[in-house]
Amino acid sequence: MSHLLSKSKYIRGLQCDRALWLDVHNPRLAKYTREQMRRFDRGRDFEYAFKATFPDGIDLSAELKRNVDAYPERTAQLLDKEEEIDLFEAGFSYDDVLVLADVVHKRPDGTLDIYEVKSGNTLSETYRRDAALQHYVISHCREINTFSIVYANPAGGFIKEELSAALQEQHEKIEKNIAAMKEIIRSGEPATPTGQHCLEPYACPYQHYCAQGVRQMSLFG
Ligand code: SF4
Repeated sequence: MSHLLSKSKYIRGLQCDRALWLDVHNPRLAKYTREQMRRFDRGRDFEYAFKATFPDGIDLSAELKRNVDAYPERTAQLLDKEEEIDLFEAGFSYDDVLVLADVVHKRPDGTLDIYEVKSGNTLSETYRRDAALQHYVISHCREINTFSIVYANPAGGFIKEELSAALQEQHEKIEKNIAAMKEIIRSGEPATPTGQHCLEPYACPYQHYCAQGVRQMSLFG
């Protein structure tokens, strides 16, 4: 594995060190509810609708499928070759973190406009954190012109909010978070107790597993 962290693992790590560790070392333990699966599907549909506004976009996932480590090299090839191009799921890697950007537009001057698509209808803190990691990684690979979060307009259509300056300010914090997460991944499973953090900002998919540990401790501890 050439990268240690992805965007989803980083977001998991912000919620709980144990969840991050499980995501890396024992992801088969994750259990998602039907409602969570439906939410993923709704998010995908919204993302497809936005991508359809870039009719010439090249979808790297159609070519590379789940071979995620191949995305950065293929992305670099396409960005180096073409003067102007739209890419979906463009891959960038820096500091052992791999991210895939929903939509990347390379401008004639070589700089990038990045669009991160979210299906909610407000710009939440979790969306900003997610985008901040993308911005951190991509800005160490290419020059970014704009970085926008795209979310749902309750009246229909899309709202685009350009956040480059605010995301840039997060870089130092992100660098420290990544270093701490790498340590967690390389160590043994944390014995983090369950609590409110298991439900916020996302319902953790390892709740059944951690609850088992609590039951065992109460029976034998
Ligand atoms: S259930 Fe709670 S303690 Fe267990 S991994 Fe998830 S967030 Fe962490």
